[in-house]
Amino acid sequence: MTVVRLQRHAPEAQNATTCAVCGTADSERVTDHLQVGTPGAPQQDAGVCDACGGVLDRVADKYGPQVTMLVGEAQREASDREITVPRKPAPESH
Ligand SMILES: [Zn+2]
Repeated sequence: MTVVRLQRHAPEAQNATTCAVCGTADSERVTDHLQVGTPGAPQQDAGVCDACGGVLDRVADKYGPQVTMLVGEAQREASDREITVPRKPAPESH
């Protein structure tokens, strides 16, 4: 089981210089501590900025801390296979 744990405004986040979510390198904004992995033995240890931490906080607050998240990107452009070309009218046979 992979758990994402966010500690908001954690003192240890001061050591982090970049936000693991948005990538900002403004170390003064990195205030939160993100741990990802097995509970008790996180494989990822990272800093998160205040804005991204706030987003994660609101998601967990709204949908519950036990939520499992699957993130995808909506398809906005048809791939080559999906483009349908109007068929040429069949040549008339005489
Ligand atoms: Zn961020």
